[in-house]
Amino acid sequence: MQQIHDLIIIGGGITGLTAAVCAGAAELDVLVIDRNPKPGGSLLKEQQINSYPALPKISGEELVSMILDHCELFGVQFEQAEIDRIDEDGAIKSVWAGKKEYTATAVLIASGKSNREFLTKLPVKSTYNGLIDAGYNCRTSGSMIYAAGNARCGALPGILNAAADGENSIKSFLEDIK
Ligand SMILES: Cc1cc2nc3c(=O)[nH]c(=O)nc-3n(C[C@H](O)[C@H](O)[C@H](O)COP(=O)(O)OP(=O)(O)OC[C@H]3O[C@@H](n4cnc5c(N)ncnc54)[C@H](O)[C@@H]3O)c2cc1C
Repeated sequence: MQQIHDLIIIGGGITGLTAAVCAGAAELDVLVIDRNPKPGGSLLKEQQINSYPALPKISGEELVSMILDHCELFGVQFEQAEIDRIDEDGAIKSVWAGKKEYTATAVLIASGKSNREFLTKLPVKSTYNGLIDAGYNCRTSGSMIYAAGNARCGALPGILNAAADGENSIKSFLEDIK
């Protein structure tokens, strides 16, 4: 039988990974799906990050590895797949990678800004520049579909802002399921 997760996060960059830690800490059943074999997104390209609190001069790769350990503590699941579609009808959302279906109560789009072709195919409102139309609370026009980090139009640039966005999306999700 198809497993129904509480939350599917599309994209394992800093936004998606931070959201995964926050959702895991709230004891939600979380699946992160990234098209790359290794999660981390743009972070993996950063040789040295100077602004991450308490971790001066850490490399992107080291930071990703620490966040993945944190995810593991909370039982966050990972899958490598390229998502091409979300079906938003009904209480259960279906997320598709070709013919493979994943299901959840909610979906967080955290796929960054480089894959706009994907973003514009989604069943939520996007903006003139192809990014998702969502405010600071990360809610989109789709019920229980959130967008955060670089995928969200108007999000501030940088790692810490992306991480804060990931956290905000989970705050909204937790409010919505109360
Ligand atoms: C070279 C470089 C250096 C930088 N240096 C700094 C710095 O020093 N300080 C700073 O604050 N910021 C820096 N930034 C910016 C910062 O890295 C980004 O703001 C932040 O990483 C954005 O995170 P994100 O998770 O929103 O998106 P991303 O990191 O882009 O992650 C998106 C993830 O989604 C996945 N994905 C996309 N489409 C799909 C799909 N259809 N299905 C499944 N998975 C998908 C991708 O594989 C990727 O892993 C730098 C960026 C780069 C590129």
